[in-house]
Amino acid sequence: MTRLPLPPSLYADTAVAPVATPPLDVDRSVSVAIVGGGYTGLSTALHLAEQGVEAVVLEAQEPGWGASGNNGGHTNPGLKHDPDQIEADFGAELGRRMIAFAYGTTNFTHDLIRRYQIPCEARQNGTLRAAYNESTAAAIEKTAQQCIRRGMPVSYLNREQLREMTGTDRYIGAMLDTRGGDLHPLSYARGLARAAMSAGAKVFGETPALSLRRDGSRWRIETPRAIVHADKVLLATNGFTDDLWPALRRTIVPVFSSIAATAPLSDAIARSIMPTRPVLYESGHITVYYRVDQQNRLLMGGRGPMRWIKSPHDVAYLMRYAERLWPQLKGVAWTHGWNSRLAITGDHYPHVHEPAESILISLGCNGRGVALSTAMGAQLARRLIGGTRTEIDMPITGIKPIPLHAFWPVGVTTAVIAGRVRDRLGI
Ligand SMILES: Cc1cc2nc3c(=O)[nH]c(=O)nc-3n(C[C@H](O)[C@H](O)[C@H](O)COP(=O)(O)OP(=O)(O)OC[C@H]3O[C@@H](n4cnc5c(N)ncnc54)[C@H](O)[C@@H]3O)c2cc1C
Repeated sequence: MTRLPLPPSLYADTAVAPVATPPLDVDRSVSVAIVGGGYTGLSTALHLAEQGVEAVVLEAQEPGWGASGNNGGHTNPGLKHDPDQIEADFGAELGRRMIAFAYGTTNFTHDLIRRYQIPCEARQNGTLRAAYNESTAAAIEKTAQQCIRRGMPVSYLNREQLREMTGTDRYIGAMLDTRGGDLHPLSYARGLARAAMSAGAKVFGETPALSLRRDGSRWRIETPRAIVHADKVLLATNGFTDDLWPALRRTIVPVFSSIAATAPLSDAIARSIMPTRPVLYESGHITVYYRVDQQNRLLMGGRGPMRWIKSPHDVAYLMRYAERLWPQLKGVAWTHGWNSRLAITGDHYPHVHEPAESILISLGCNGRGVALSTAMGAQLARRLIGGTRTEIDMPITGIKPIPLHAFWPVGVTTAVIAGRVRDRLGI
């Protein structure tokens, strides 16, 4: 089998060199086999290896090939839902643990990067969750109050403050969480792979898991050239989940998200956009997210076509939107446009499953998995080592396929188009 090339991203052109991960070609017997070499799989392997547990990662392409090497690079604290909502949904005890975990994921990730000295342009300049209409601003202000009540380093910013921070008067309110930040996603994925391997994990590229079945008290994973026998298995395939485990594919909707990047901007233009370099994502009908990287490039992300793209012209609306926010961008060169797939769950919470003994599944970060998957890896590792279910600060739930799953792609496309129309109308 030949390795699929990486999507034609800015990251593929600028990342640190990958560590060699040749295909698995001899049978292996291990403690833990991990399917999927994104942040979830690699972080779990690293945390297992730190404890001296023998782990192998089987990756169909190369580490970071999926969402992990192609995302917006925002490290965002928290979950999609408000803290109060989380406690209402899961009760005070688990709810509180989920909140502490989810809002702690960015510090966890940036600490890990420092500890392993992963060269990935990581910064912690804060995350802005911004609103451009009254109803969303009111909702964000409520979220901010809930976070402040819980002692988090969060503030609510008004239109004037946002004009200063973003160089546009599009936003009427935003929550600033100083724990947020950004990084170079592919360099981070490659650094995580390198760290896991130095700690003793084995990572194999071009090694898709073709089938998974019980073999006595162990698990047997077939790959194109070799068989892996493992005591325990973690499935970490997120938006690329296939039919390895029955019905798992139908528990998520794999959605493409796209990014367009400019050439490095002049210092003056870059400063006029976001002088203090936080990252920003909009709360609205259609989520747009952006940041200015360390080379002064603007990276503008959002929903795009539900197919692979190759150039910024495939997401021309992102460029138009950027020019609408900052007219000084007219005439700058847009050099890259790419996308990848993430996994959305029906309830917009990340999902952890244990459908059989010694099998763990973690997927569905709903577009905010950079820090979350990294931190989740440490918890998954503890559970795989034999820790109790409470090692994981998320509910461990049954596999429940989304009703009418086959119709979701149509629904998603319609929602994206409707959102784009509403955005164009500015409502
Ligand atoms: C365009 C885009 C922008 C995003 N922006 C942000 C952001 O700014 N901030 C944020 O927090 N999150 C963001 N996300 C989400 C974030 O990237 C993901 O939540 C995170 O990377 C998920 O990591 P993962 O390891 O679970 O999955 P992935 O990185 O997708 O890894 C899954 C891997 O499994 C492999 N695989 C699948 N099936 C098999 C098999 N049978 N055998 C072997 N290997 C297999 C795939 O090849 C893939 O490499 C974004 C996602 C996208 C697509």
